[in-house]
Amino acid sequence: MEANTGINFFPEAAGMIIPEPRRISEERDFRTFTKEKSHGILSGKKKEKREAPHMADQFRENPLRLAFGLMRLPKNQNGIIDIPQVCEMADRFIAAGGTYFDTAFVYDGGGSEKAFRAAVAERYPRDAYTLATKLHATIGARDEQSAKQEFQTSLERTGAGFFDYYLLHAMQRSMYQKYDEYGLWDFVREQKEKGLIRHWGFSFHADPDLLEELLEKHPDAEFVQLQINYADWDNPGVASRRNWEICKAHGKPVMIMEPVKGGILADPIPTVKAVFDAAGKNVSYASWALRFAAGLENVHAVLSGMSNLAQMEDNLRTMKDFRPLDEEEMELIRQAQRALEADKSIPCTSCHYCTKGCPMEIPIPEIFNVINRRKGSPEFRTIREYGIVTNGRGTAGQCIACGQCESACPQGLPIISLLQKCREELEK
Ligand code: SF4
Ligand code: SF4
Repeated sequence: MEANTGINFFPEAAGMIIPEPRRISEERDFRTFTKEKSHGILSGKKKEKREAPHMADQFRENPLRLAFGLMRLPKNQNGIIDIPQVCEMADRFIAAGGTYFDTAFVYDGGGSEKAFRAAVAERYPRDAYTLATKLHATIGARDEQSAKQEFQTSLERTGAGFFDYYLLHAMQRSMYQKYDEYGLWDFVREQKEKGLIRHWGFSFHADPDLLEELLEKHPDAEFVQLQINYADWDNPGVASRRNWEICKAHGKPVMIMEPVKGGILADPIPTVKAVFDAAGKNVSYASWALRFAAGLENVHAVLSGMSNLAQMEDNLRTMKDFRPLDEEEMELIRQAQRALEADKSIPCTSCHYCTKGCPMEIPIPEIFNVINRRKGSPEFRTIREYGIVTNGRGTAGQCIACGQCESACPQGLPIISLLQKCREELEK
């Protein structure tokens, strides 16, 4: 049963023409998977010592290391995912040597997985791509059965037949126990035994102590997806550096998410722009962020949630002939980090996890964006913009402090008190 997400996703009905795929370059090296070992880890064998497999050599080669994140896909003016543009982006990505696509059951209420099917699964042979998707125990699920049903629904929506990478989604202090309560760790092991998952792991948005605990309890997890970017490297609320070090110590390859921090580092605050502009390199701000993340050891893929062809082209330019940051460039990153530390913007990544259960339908990230843009630009028409984003929806002042949003926020933002401040500034 598929959750009623309210998303419109009928590209053909919307008159969209789905383009034919381009021929895949002859140069592409489609290596087959290394034959995976079964680790014999299933329900009923919980007391057996779980073997930590050798990781990186089992993954399919990912020479480009860029992953096409399908979280922020382009939409047309009717709010429907723009499938022709997604097709074009997927074609460019695959032609450039990209293989790794990353989606999730909850992205765009299921629209992201369906878009993957239309743009990739139905247009390319199965060995042209690898697919990662995720099961979320609370958003989109009300109990064990509906959580497990997400797996089957994702198989149907994506049309991929099996998942190359399957993740338990967004471990946070406020809800990670649900994955135990619903038996989801063993559930993914069972799907792997059935051949429906090649590799499984989890994505993580919490503190280093919890990461240690999870890796101790589940040493057979094959990888971890972490939020890593230069802005959050030493941010105690995200702990990019410490969590990456822990994964390295446990021998877990890392998939990096939010290398550009939800787009914030593609269009950073003026003081950060000034740091990079002074270097006179004539490259995008996003490229600095991508190179910082991709230059780290022990990284299998860097996911970038791309929203248009221009972003795809820019990322491909950065990653095609990848060059890690040298010492001089690292010094610029340190300067940018200091500029960000001095900034008081709300570090919201616009993931929208908080809005799904808000009883007052408050457009939380859009309101935070209005406040942030106002700070960066004195001439910004704040009240007018605030009126636009809240038109027909809840306002900051209508928050009833139920706390639903705070338990869902991967960034751990104190949303209720932030909205209170927004109300004071915007509803005077
Ligand atoms: S605390 Fe406020 S903003 Fe958050 S979910 Fe509840 S009503 Fe919405
Ligand atoms: S407030 Fe948190 S959950 Fe909501 S969009 Fe921003 S980062 Fe995501």
